[in-house]
Amino acid sequence: MLDIAEARSHVLSRCPALAPRAVSYRDAVGLVLAELVVAVESVPPFVNSAVDGYAVVAASVAGASADGPVQLPVVGEVAAGGYTDRVLQPGEAIRIMTGAPMPAGADAVVMVEDTELLGDRSTDGGSLVSIRRAVRAGDAVRGAGDDVRAGTLLFPAGTVVRPAVLGVLASVNAREVRVVPRVRVAVLSTGDELIDDGSPLQPGQIRESNRTMLHAALAEAGCEVVDLGIVRDDEAALAGVLQSAAATCDAIVTSGGVSMGDYDVVKAVLSQLADMRWMQIAIKPAKPFAFGLLPVPGGAGGVAAGRQVPVFGLPGNPVSSLVSFELLARPALRQMMGHTDIQRPTVAAVADDGLPRRPDGKTHYVRVFAAFGDDGRVHVRSVGAQGSHQLAATSLANAIAVVADGDGIAAGGPVPTMLLSVG
Ligand code: AMP
Ligand code: MG
Repeated sequence: MLDIAEARSHVLSRCPALAPRAVSYRDAVGLVLAELVVAVESVPPFVNSAVDGYAVVAASVAGASADGPVQLPVVGEVAAGGYTDRVLQPGEAIRIMTGAPMPAGADAVVMVEDTELLGDRSTDGGSLVSIRRAVRAGDAVRGAGDDVRAGTLLFPAGTVVRPAVLGVLASVNAREVRVVPRVRVAVLSTGDELIDDGSPLQPGQIRESNRTMLHAALAEAGCEVVDLGIVRDDEAALAGVLQSAAATCDAIVTSGGVSMGDYDVVKAVLSQLADMRWMQIAIKPAKPFAFGLLPVPGGAGGVAAGRQVPVFGLPGNPVSSLVSFELLARPALRQMMGHTDIQRPTVAAVADDGLPRRPDGKTHYVRVFAAFGDDGRVHVRSVGAQGSHQLAATSLANAIAVVADGDGIAAGGPVPTMLLSVG
């Protein structure tokens, strides 16, 4: 049996990042920048007010206090999006809104809460404002380039475009960015027993579940998914589907037919078409796993000749399929999308009830429910049934505890745990 670390490095070394392309920044969320971004504009672009209030010369209100307010004539008003060319003189105030450009001559803003307007606000120039608090030069003023200075390096290559990164790109007018694109992944399931049309089950039939699950897991990983449906256990049919998938996709994920059974057609077909490695990995569940590179016939679908498409042959048992995807396919697909942080975060969790097992030469990936305890640590409990066909119990898991070969973990003991989604 193969060590999981060896299986993973075999796969990862054959799944390089896709070629970068330029996209609109709006389409870049979740993707990885392939090129650094330098700011071409400053943010904010001009000196502006941080509050609603009155722009003043700070020295004019140096003596102001609640007991001894200073009264200034209001000589104008400027709102966000507006502009005034009136130059403020000492002893004057201009009413100003948050984000409005500072009038020339003003060096501070008194916030409206520290003021009282005397008289009628509508009569421009006719009213007085009473200022109850002194300010210093620069108070409540936001400098041009306070956030981003034009010419500075904003993001290095490799940055993941999260929502706030997208916001910054918009703020500096970086309308096009070079990113590693989403991996376009074809997903299919194989098996004569599978149906997914909702019709009554005939003897021997089961409802298809893996493809639906993997489709969602691929989308969650940031992939673009092409659903190829159920392919019957028929070599010619499967060969045709796989070849056309290779011509139009960056990767292929199959479920079923990779173990030792007589009807394991995935094995028969891929052995002929692709450079495959059929693995028996020392893990439970998900021992059988296949990986290979499927050559694309030159020029097919307008695709460059010599391209090779990674194929992930996941086992058919639903829990095995999911665990196999998590351990081997997901990291590789993330790497193809330019991510360097490709593994799920793993923490040393506390196994509240213990996770007993028997020695069998395999690492056990136990599906658990993880939650933060009052001690600030992650605590885990088995979700129950751990059979590789028992997806219902696994569906309650938000983490996978990694229990090394041996007798397992005693109650209260530490266990490395991959977090799928916590909190
Ligand atoms: P296989 O790997 O094809 O030998 O399948 C192993 C087990 O998983 C069998 O019990 C299959 O019926 C089941 N199975 C295979 N593919 C799927 C699927 N797409 N959805 C649900 N169960 C499946
Ligand atoms: Mg099968």
